[in-house]
Amino acid sequence: MLWNRVSADAVACCRILWQAGFEAYPVGGCVRDLLLGRVPGDWDVTTSARPEQVMSLFEHTIATGVRHGTVTVILEKEHIEVTTFRGESGYSDGRHPDEVCFDATLEEDLSRRDFTINAMALDRDGGIVDLFGGQTDLKAKVIRCVGDPVRRFVEDGLRMFRAVRFGAQLGFALNGETEQAIRICAGDTVHIAAERVRVELEKTICSNRPEDAMDFFSLGVMFRWASGSPESLRRLRQVPDQPLFRWAALCACLLEGACIPSVDEFLRRLKLDGATIRACKAGWELCREGVPNDDMGWRKALASCGKDGCRAAAAMCGGDALTKLETVLEHDPCVRVEQLALSGGDLVAMGARGSQIGVVQRHLLEHVLAVPGDNRAEVLAVKAEEFLAR
Ligand code: ATP
Ligand code: MG
Repeated sequence: MLWNRVSADAVACCRILWQAGFEAYPVGGCVRDLLLGRVPGDWDVTTSARPEQVMSLFEHTIATGVRHGTVTVILEKEHIEVTTFRGESGYSDGRHPDEVCFDATLEEDLSRRDFTINAMALDRDGGIVDLFGGQTDLKAKVIRCVGDPVRRFVEDGLRMFRAVRFGAQLGFALNGETEQAIRICAGDTVHIAAERVRVELEKTICSNRPEDAMDFFSLGVMFRWASGSPESLRRLRQVPDQPLFRWAALCACLLEGACIPSVDEFLRRLKLDGATIRACKAGWELCREGVPNDDMGWRKALASCGKDGCRAAAAMCGGDALTKLETVLEHDPCVRVEQLALSGGDLVAMGARGSQIGVVQRHLLEHVLAVPGDNRAEVLAVKAEEFLAR
């Protein structure tokens, strides 16, 4: 019985709506995940109650997107997104429906959803409302649009990116017509915010099938950010599935394939955060110079490029660079003056003054990078005294 696996808060949310005489169903991604035996990340409920009715039935709510019919209901532990049955018409901007009507039925609500596997609801008796063959597609591991794929992608171009992302995350294939429709509509993504594309691309490259991100390039949807396709994205799988490593490896593949002008340009235009951009930029420079091949080299690189810069470099270069770097990092080596066992205050007490302090610190750091075991106050004090006496 699927209801046994629905979270207590989502059950309570539906009960309250039923008792008030409304229809209410867990819907979309959570039903898909239940059927796949996965634990849903979040719970969405679709209901016949209007947003203001939902808000009057629960003590704690947030008017998340009332215009689109969504109210967040806060119960014991979870936030449940409760959305009124929605019908939509006209997507003249290629992203948002012109009109949202709340006189819709469950059937209409399901038919506006993107893919068959995301268009199922769980009814009160534990049955699945599956009007578009979602369960068949789940078994066949297929991503297929609800309705005519070209129409659905013209309505909302983000769905093209979502199709590839769900394929990668779930290990599914794109249905042939759906894939063909992406090729047809790929040029029509100018209305989609770069941030949304970044989110989908990041979820894809951080999935268990990161090489699926190739579809983004080969099907043409990335034309605003990259030209052509990289030769291969196999390198992504060889690095940990955290964003920094995967973005770095992706950048390296795209640069090698001459698909992007620079790391900076590509990541900035996809609105990545500054820290990731800086790390990938520094990483690519280090990678081009050649990553270190011994521990001391890595410590020096850590001193100049930082931990994330080095991690990006190692992910970009592939091979065993990352293993070597991680071994060095395990010892938590001193790579910055602030980590020296002798502080600036200690140096002042020894008679160092003004700019001399920084000079001595850099001298000591240089030594510690070569001989990490010497990062002890008594050893550094001797070194500092020698240096000051010169
Ligand atoms: P996950 O949260 O695991 O990434 P999800 O399927 O729950 O996957 P959400 O983005 O949370 O995805 O959306 C919830 C549901 O809303 C989807 O399952 C789908 O039914 C519908 N949906 C979301 N975005 C769109 C869209 N762009 N077009 C049509 N339906 C959508
Ligand atoms: Mg979700």
